[in-house]
Amino acid sequence: MTPVALHETKDATAGGQAGDGATDLFTSPLSKHVLPKYRMPDEHAPPEVVYSLIHNELMLDGNAAQNLATFCTTWADDEVHRLMNECLDKNMVDKDEYPQTAEIESRCVNILADLWHAPATGADSPNAMGCSTTGSSEAAMLGGLALKWRWRERRRKEGKPADRPNLVCGPVQICWDKFARYFDVELRQVPLEAGATGLRAHQLKDYVDENTIGVVAILGVTFTCDYEPVQEFAAELDRIQAEKGWDIPIHVDAASGGFIAPFLHPDVVWDFRLERVASINASGHKYGLAPLGVGWAVWRTADLLPEDLIFRVNYLGGDIPTFALNFSRPGGEIVAQYYNFLRLGRGGYRRVQQACAETAQYLAGEVAAMGPFTLLYDGNGALPAVSYKLTDPENAGFSLYDLSDQLRMRGWQVPAYPLPANQEDTVIQRVLIRHGVGLDEIALLAQDMRRSLARLTQGVPADADRAGFHH
Ligand SMILES: *Cc1c(COP(=O)(O)O)cnc(C)c1O
Repeated sequence: MTPVALHETKDATAGGQAGDGATDLFTSPLSKHVLPKYRMPDEHAPPEVVYSLIHNELMLDGNAAQNLATFCTTWADDEVHRLMNECLDKNMVDKDEYPQTAEIESRCVNILADLWHAPATGADSPNAMGCSTTGSSEAAMLGGLALKWRWRERRRKEGKPADRPNLVCGPVQICWDKFARYFDVELRQVPLEAGATGLRAHQLKDYVDENTIGVVAILGVTFTCDYEPVQEFAAELDRIQAEKGWDIPIHVDAASGGFIAPFLHPDVVWDFRLERVASINASGHKYGLAPLGVGWAVWRTADLLPEDLIFRVNYLGGDIPTFALNFSRPGGEIVAQYYNFLRLGRGGYRRVQQACAETAQYLAGEVAAMGPFTLLYDGNGALPAVSYKLTDPENAGFSLYDLSDQLRMRGWQVPAYPLPANQEDTVIQRVLIRHGVGLDEIALLAQDMRRSLARLTQGVPADADRAGFHH
């Protein structure tokens, strides 16, 4: 490849000739070359040309609205776009320079502590203990660290060894594997029982011991979309404490369920109503409806967060406590989270999540009627999602991976994957419904699924019925 000068020629930038680049982006010198990709160009180039080149390249990414694999926000009000733009320069760590953004973060923490029934919170008592993070992964690390610190302190006071901490959990998201490895904690992952969608309370007794820093309960298991029975975990841990004396706290990973259960399943007791629940994390950028880049960690009471995990910095001005893995971090997502809280209120969140749940249930009905599938989760009772497997994978004549490929040809991203340990022979497909994915869109997906099935099982040509030749 010949080297290319990425800047306009002297003539082109010097007024008279600029029209070449300015009136038609695609006849500018920059547009007429294959660009070097792995070395910074020697010179500058006009912003609108570079913008349009990158804009077009990004089209090769999947279309987020058709990505049914992700829990993360892909739709936002215009007002969110505007606020994000206005917050481009706001650094979350610089609470002295941006005290109002910091205040908004604190309001969000209090709103969530109240939503999750922390004691002594709400409008009259804005003293909730918690913080924003870059997502649930960071929030999970912080929750896990607090558990480890408290366990170690307790062990030292008792004069017992504190060098072999373990954390007990079911089929967790990868962030807990990371926590365990990065912070030197043994992860005791309990295998799924046949037919179970997550950890079960009666399994706990075989895995916890005096070195257990906590049990992670998942509200919305990543693989199966179901809630783990947090209330039953708490009762079982009460029983274990009565028998053995081990006081083992629960951290709830409510990455997605933390913004679903309070609105759709208020009777499911999973949060700070249970005294054993010490901390909760959730992803603002999932069903919290904020743009990518925000999560939340909240503690039941201030004393559960050990003081020596909190650092105080003064060089930005003021005396600023920070508990985070990052330092500088954008503030826009947090402001957008607050916008959503005010804009939607509890009623608005309920309606948004309800619409998603109804769309999921509609899809479950469609999938069940297609023939070859057995539903594993029909969108009722936990996350707005559907999962299913092939009833008879041996004789179906195709795999769910084949179906994923077929759907991908129309732009749909519907992942197929094996279940976690002990049930890894079962391959499932999962569709997540979130804000911005409407019922009509899902009806189109169902239509494409039927076409794909026809193609995979009968070899019907791809376009036959799309062109209207059938029916
Ligand atoms: C998504 C998810 C995470 C990780 O959250 P991020 O916000 O992507 O960091 C952790 N736990 C569960 C259960 C999740 O669904």
